[in-house]
Amino acid sequence: MTSGITPPSDGTAGIDLAGRTAMVTGAGSGIGRACAQALASAGAQVHVVDLDAEAAKSVAEEIGGHPHVVDLSRSDLIEGLPADIDILVNNAGLQHVAPLTAFPPERFELLQKVMVHAPFLLLRRVLPHMSARSWGRIVNISSVHGLRASAFKAGYVTAKHALEGLSKVAALEGAPHGITSNCVNPGYVRTPLVEQQIAAQAAAHGIGPDQVIGEVMLNRSAIKRLIEPQEVAAIAVWLCGPHTGYITGASLPVDGGWSAA
Ligand code: NAD
Repeated sequence: MTSGITPPSDGTAGIDLAGRTAMVTGAGSGIGRACAQALASAGAQVHVVDLDAEAAKSVAEEIGGHPHVVDLSRSDLIEGLPADIDILVNNAGLQHVAPLTAFPPERFELLQKVMVHAPFLLLRRVLPHMSARSWGRIVNISSVHGLRASAFKAGYVTAKHALEGLSKVAALEGAPHGITSNCVNPGYVRTPLVEQQIAAQAAAHGIGPDQVIGEVMLNRSAIKRLIEPQEVAAIAVWLCGPHTGYITGASLPVDGGWSAA
């Protein structure tokens, strides 16, 4: 017997975020866009932050949110973002694939700025508001590479491991104020970032694109398919819902069994 009610297919069933204000970084594309869509679908007002002006504006328009065109590697620009945020999704990120000895130092630094330093600066900005309201949710989109390393990804693996530490400190400091902080740790998600990596990995390993997906990307995953961005967004929204207030300082693998092996 069915109730006749079709639950939303985006994982937001039973989660009411009306009255909450969210900020999603890197919300112009991929996982960030899916998070912004799902948070808006659950009723939150969403600030859409991205380097890409067209993408930020188009996602904000689509979900009735507010676009902010900001390069998160610039500390001075981060200071201009709103601070009255209840839900912060630290998602913006980028990849660079090269052996350590050929890894350009300026790219290494950029990855740390966008994926570690910007989340740190944003936490400093939004934690006072969350504390004042005795409620806050911090969702850090880490990676299976926050828990495991892969060759040729020194900048990314370093940044994601650092984000794990930052998330845990925020969990400890936020707990007395009703604030949780968690990491979500996906394996390979079907986004433009991964599509670019397929080509880069093919060059680094000297193999073709199909072999990269089958033998490099999904090699360590028990489930042999890419993850969809909406599957990651559903977990981000679930972490903001009514049943997850005791989950904090955690890292939730969404990796098809990669980290279980
Ligand atoms: P994506 O490339 O589709 O989107 C990333 C977004 O971040 C883009 O819109 C880009 O413009 C924005 N961005 C990049 N640098 C920025 C900067 N300096 N300032 C502001 N915005 C900036 O990537 P995605 O796959 O959706 O990845 C999103 C997050 O998920 C990243 O942190 C990534 O590390 C993480 N992740 C992705 C995968 C995957 O397989 N795609 C797996 C695990 C974790």
